[in-house]
Amino acid sequence: MEQRTAELSQALAAVEAQKQELESALRQKEEIQNQLQDELKDAQLLHTISAMLVDENSVGELYQKLVDAATLVMRSDFGSMQRFDEEEGKLQLIAHRGLDESAVEFWQWVHAGRATTCGKALQLGQRVVVPDFEVCEFIEGSADLIAFRQAGVRSAQSTPLLTRNGRLVGMITTHWTRVCQPRERDLQLLDIIARQAADLIERNASAEALRLQSQRLIEADRYKDEFLATLAHELRNPLAPIQNGLALLKIGKSEQVPRVLPMMERQLGHMVRLIDDLLDVSRISRGMITLKRDRVTLKTIVDSAVETSRPMINAAQHKFTVTIPGDNVWLHVDLTRVAQIISNLLNNAAKYTPSGGEIELVGEVTGSTVLVKVRDTGIGIAQTMLPKIFELFTQVDGTAENAQGGLGVGLALARRLAEMHDGSIEVTSPGDKAGSVFTLSLPVDHAVALDRNPGQHPASHPVGNALRVLIIDDNVDAAETLALVLGVLGHTTSVVVDARKAMATALEFEPDVVFLDLGMPHLNGFDLARQMRGEAALNRTYLAALSGWGSDDDRARSLEAGVDRHLTKPVKLNEVEELLAQLVQRR
Ligand code: ADP
Repeated sequence: MEQRTAELSQALAAVEAQKQELESALRQKEEIQNQLQDELKDAQLLHTISAMLVDENSVGELYQKLVDAATLVMRSDFGSMQRFDEEEGKLQLIAHRGLDESAVEFWQWVHAGRATTCGKALQLGQRVVVPDFEVCEFIEGSADLIAFRQAGVRSAQSTPLLTRNGRLVGMITTHWTRVCQPRERDLQLLDIIARQAADLIERNASAEALRLQSQRLIEADRYKDEFLATLAHELRNPLAPIQNGLALLKIGKSEQVPRVLPMMERQLGHMVRLIDDLLDVSRISRGMITLKRDRVTLKTIVDSAVETSRPMINAAQHKFTVTIPGDNVWLHVDLTRVAQIISNLLNNAAKYTPSGGEIELVGEVTGSTVLVKVRDTGIGIAQTMLPKIFELFTQVDGTAENAQGGLGVGLALARRLAEMHDGSIEVTSPGDKAGSVFTLSLPVDHAVALDRNPGQHPASHPVGNALRVLIIDDNVDAAETLALVLGVLGHTTSVVVDARKAMATALEFEPDVVFLDLGMPHLNGFDLARQMRGEAALNRTYLAALSGWGSDDDRARSLEAGVDRHLTKPVKLNEVEELLAQLVQRR
């Protein structure tokens, strides 16, 4: 009986152990089932979110959906999404759920020092969770805490939005009205949403950049079309009077010559000035202009500018006065370039002032600065246009009918030249029809201020003796007109338009001087110069190169080829005269 009882209780214990084992297995199965169910729920949630996002086209809506998804996943009461503005170094609110107007305004921009989870996450570059704002060191006593209380927010988490290469592009935040420590699993799901949000912001930023770039290109294209139209118009304008003048001369109306020639000269001068300005601007932008600085007085510069602009001022019958402080203000500048700036200002004053107006040029020294003011009583410039007129190709609307031609290049060029001299140009105008004042500022050269022995200003010398001049240029008109002029001045000339025949002519003609065009077909001027330098019979011949380009590079190439002097086209007659006079004297 005892044995039987022992056997039974053993069997009972075994059944009990088996039962416990079974129960534990059941519990495990239930746990796994629950876990599976949770994961299924997560997967379904993510699926719903993806479907929501795929459907959406507008970026603003997409941001909103991402915030909605985040609040759903985190079971939170509010949510927000911010983009990181790299220039400002701040987060900007771009979408939210549940925040009221004052909260939106209060947290529109958040910097790294703010007492918020997003401010802290921005500072640390990682997720920040605050389960209870009332017991948080960095939030305690802050204005943000007061705002949180007003908005009814008690806890929050902020997760940085990082692109695939780790760049911070924004922040996603969820808020609760109660104390809350989010579950790890929920945070993992949030990370998936954060990744999508980061991609979206990044994609949107590059699309925006692309849009801006294409807008700029479209604008540049429109600008170019407008510019070409103006250019064509401006270049054609002087051609009509020149053509008419030529026709008159052709039919031999000699009594018209005194009237027609100055007109043709003026129009041609105008065209040359336009083209020169354009070339100068392009040279400056390519860094191809170097200043030839010299010691010059303000008076020398102003005289030179006035000489250039006087015909235009006189033609419009303006009253013109010049006041400068004697002849002892010295500058260390490129005379030609600074005179070009001032004459640009004078020409504009003449152009944009109805005839019979007043133009005043005043020079003064304040401290170590020379100020040259050009004041006119003309049409004036609207306040909104003042900062713009120095931009390339800018012309004030509505002044076209007042303009006597122009491309909107002059002031851009003048300002760049002034800056190259460490100076500046400013403009003021009281407005419509009230005139303008342009002020050029340049540094005084104190080092030479006491030097009372300036170098002689070049003046044209009469040519006493005849020289033999060979002109080599494939542009027949340019060559022949130069020959004509030199002939009138008493020199003997010969013209070659085919570079291949130049050597033979040179050896036969034995010129004192050769004017040599550099850009010619078949044989360029550099090679021809080298050949000439190799001929003993021509070793006393002076070689002057004529080139459309006056860059230092071109000059260096000319010299290296054996050229004595590099002249830039169109060569001014007095430059040629002066060169020939020097050669006569040297002979
Ligand atoms: P352009 O004279 O060839 O048009 P500028 O660059 O010299 O080009 O000048 C740009 C614009 O500035 C002009 O088109 C004109 O509208 C305005 N402007 C320049 N100087 C004056 C001035 N003295 N008075 C009124 N407007 C001026």
